[in-house]
Amino acid sequence: MEDLESVRAEAVQMMGVFQVLPKLVVFDLDYTIWPFYCECRSKHDTPSLFPHSRGIFTALKDQGIQTAIASKSPTPHIATTFLDKLNITSMFDAKEIYYTSTHKTEHFQKIYSRTGVSYNSMLFFDDDNNNIQEITKLGVTSILVRNGVNLGIFREGLSRFSQNWDASKNKQKRRK
Ligand SMILES: [Mg+2]
Repeated sequence: MEDLESVRAEAVQMMGVFQVLPKLVVFDLDYTIWPFYCECRSKHDTPSLFPHSRGIFTALKDQGIQTAIASKSPTPHIATTFLDKLNITSMFDAKEIYYTSTHKTEHFQKIYSRTGVSYNSMLFFDDDNNNIQEITKLGVTSILVRNGVNLGIFREGLSRFSQNWDASKNKQKRRK
């Protein structure tokens, strides 16, 4: 099992490398922070996270970066029970967990209205490419997760965020 402290420390060190960081990091739940679909589980089960999830959440909190959940789970009561059982409910500044027929645009509108963080200051991780495509259109740096969130994909997210940020600043400069 990965040591929480070493994952946290490595994530903090990674963040120190970038000149610009997101103000808010948004996570999907199923197959992004944990390795299962909530609707296939009972709320009496004992859930577990992907090995690096908790260390990454802790590092973000340490750095004063907000975090949120955007999940289309059809069983939000199981999802919220699992977040409680894992003792991570209080780590998230916004939790949008409900099924919609669209690809999370409502979730992000709510997250924006709750936190006031603009879309171009957000970084998003999800294992569903439809959500990634749709939320990218809002201007959020959106990263497709294939094997759950981990330090490797976290670094890629920070790097892509910083590239997008620089590109948008350069565009503004050229317009002047
Ligand atoms: Mg998912």
